Amino acid sequence: MKCICCKKNDGKYFHFDGGKVCDHCLGHYFTCSKCGMLFNQDDYVNGDQGTGYCKKCSQEDE
Ligand SMILES: [Zn+2]
Ligand SMILES: [Zn+2]
Repeated sequence: MKCICCKKNDGKYFHFDGGKVCDHCLGHYFTCSKCGMLFNQDDYVNGDQGTGYCKKCSQEDE
């Protein structure tokens, strides 16, 4: 499966919305340090909760 960002390289990391992202484009996304899932940088609903974790993982810690 091709990277959803550059659409050129092979995707390696799973994105929350589906599809995969390559090493090269990884910096364009927020990576949850717990589950390793990628989220859009501006996705504060599902992604970065200010904890380094996504929403799902933040809730699991409570
Ligand atoms: Zn890419
Ligand atoms: Zn997570």
